Amino acid sequence: MIKWFFMPLVAAFLFTGCNNKINNPKLVVFISIDQGMPELLDKYDHLFTGGYRWLKDNGNSFVNTHHDYGYLVTGPSHQVLSSGRYPSSGGVIGNYWFNRDIKKSWYCVEDTIAHDVVNGGSGRSYRNVEVTALGDWLKQSNPKSKVVSISGKDRTAILLGGKNPDMALWYKNHGGWTTSTYYAEALPDWVSSFNSKLNVPSYTDSVWTRLLDESIYTSNTRADNFEGEADWSNDGEYNPTLPISFKDRGVKTMLGDFPYIPFGDAAMLRLGTLSAEKLQLGKDENTDILFLGLSATDGVGHAFGPHSHEQLDNYLRVDRHLGSFINSIESSVGIGNTLYILTSDHGSIALPEYLKSQGIDAGRISKPMKDSLYAEVKTKIEMQIGKNKVYRNGNYFYYDVSMNLQQYEVATDIIKSNLSKLEGIRSVITKKEILNGGNSIYERRLKNMVHIQKSPDVFLIPKKYWTQRFPYGASHGTPYDYDTHIPLVFARGESKHRISTKRVASVDIAPTVAKYLNVQFPKAIDGKALKIK
Ligand SMILES: [Zn+2]
Repeated sequence: MIKWFFMPLVAAFLFTGCNNKINNPKLVVFISIDQGMPELLDKYDHLFTGGYRWLKDNGNSFVNTHHDYGYLVTGPSHQVLSSGRYPSSGGVIGNYWFNRDIKKSWYCVEDTIAHDVVNGGSGRSYRNVEVTALGDWLKQSNPKSKVVSISGKDRTAILLGGKNPDMALWYKNHGGWTTSTYYAEALPDWVSSFNSKLNVPSYTDSVWTRLLDESIYTSNTRADNFEGEADWSNDGEYNPTLPISFKDRGVKTMLGDFPYIPFGDAAMLRLGTLSAEKLQLGKDENTDILFLGLSATDGVGHAFGPHSHEQLDNYLRVDRHLGSFINSIESSVGIGNTLYILTSDHGSIALPEYLKSQGIDAGRISKPMKDSLYAEVKTKIEMQIGKNKVYRNGNYFYYDVSMNLQQYEVATDIIKSNLSKLEGIRSVITKKEILNGGNSIYERRLKNMVHIQKSPDVFLIPKKYWTQRFPYGASHGTPYDYDTHIPLVFARGESKHRISTKRVASVDIAPTVAKYLNVQFPKAIDGKALKIK
């Protein structure tokens, strides 16, 4: 069954206004900026001259786009972006969750069969994700179409790419991009050669300096030295400011952190350009798709907060690198032959210390306090109903399938009565309460994050403007607008800039692209193809 039939006139009007010629793109480039925030793209808009400038100037911007579900982290959100389904039906409920069947924490792209093709370590794949995604729909419609997905994070590349991409590449801390045997037996020579030339350990000699004059940063955002920022200088004194020398942080940290600093995204975009060239993306009439997940914005945001000099500098760098990438695609595929999508998996809270300086009631949930309450809860539950009945994974509680109703009530009562004392917690809420909740946006977001079988039994929801990040930095993972609001731009060369203020949801993105490409998608998805004025 198909939900939607291609309507040539609507598709033609999408970007070409009164041009009634159907002009299927040869290539789709789907760009997800991890922690990309519309607020920052607007705030720094006048400073952009590269890719962000181009995408906006040639794009149809949906400025009121939200992820309408409640646990905003990378894994679930990328499943939402590529499949058009909420975690409630897509099943990727977190980056990690407790798997009740095997009684273990489970990583969203964990694969116990596949292995890493570079060093034979544990593999990652889409194997345990049940739903299909945009790339699968495209290949089903035309098996000659190529689907390639690349990111700094394995879960981003894998969840964007879907079940059956031609290639999925992600960075691994052995110092380069890799894949697993789910996708290929070995890396292509050109990826191995890219990795060895990259020489990630050599980046410890680098210093992260401001791209532009310091006065531009000072006049566009808050002070650089701000309480609550993490300090990467490793010199013993708290001085969380640019420039940052990577020498003292050492090779091991550089190998682990590479995708989360601006150099990592620059490298990833060079690999994206190389992939397009080597795999001949967009070179024939079979539309190809290249997913690119940029990860440094998330790394920088977590450490320094969205309004930091570091994040402003990172946005400027992404703008430039994206500009070079788009130039190379436009010149190799032909101007206007590529459809670009710019979006994100989530936003972020500002540093609570910054919010307080703006007069907002904000804070950090104390980790020592939380850990001691968790220990108390564990002891009380074990005393009253025994061991191995309740498992905690992160901030969520999972009940064993053997629990009876009385044990359920005892455990729930202990968790609620102890953890609601924690400063900064809005509610300690059960899965049942969420599913029986009302219809406000907040309540709907909570419902859309709950998968009936897989989800936890009890959730801790922080108060608005309170974060679990402790003691430094910023984070996401809540149902509040600062986490759910994402950019959404559909752009093609030589198109006009248009703005839509209509409220749309991230589940609409995949079906919109499918509709634009005349590709059928499953009836059961949660999103709908956007109608473009
Ligand atoms: Zn993050």
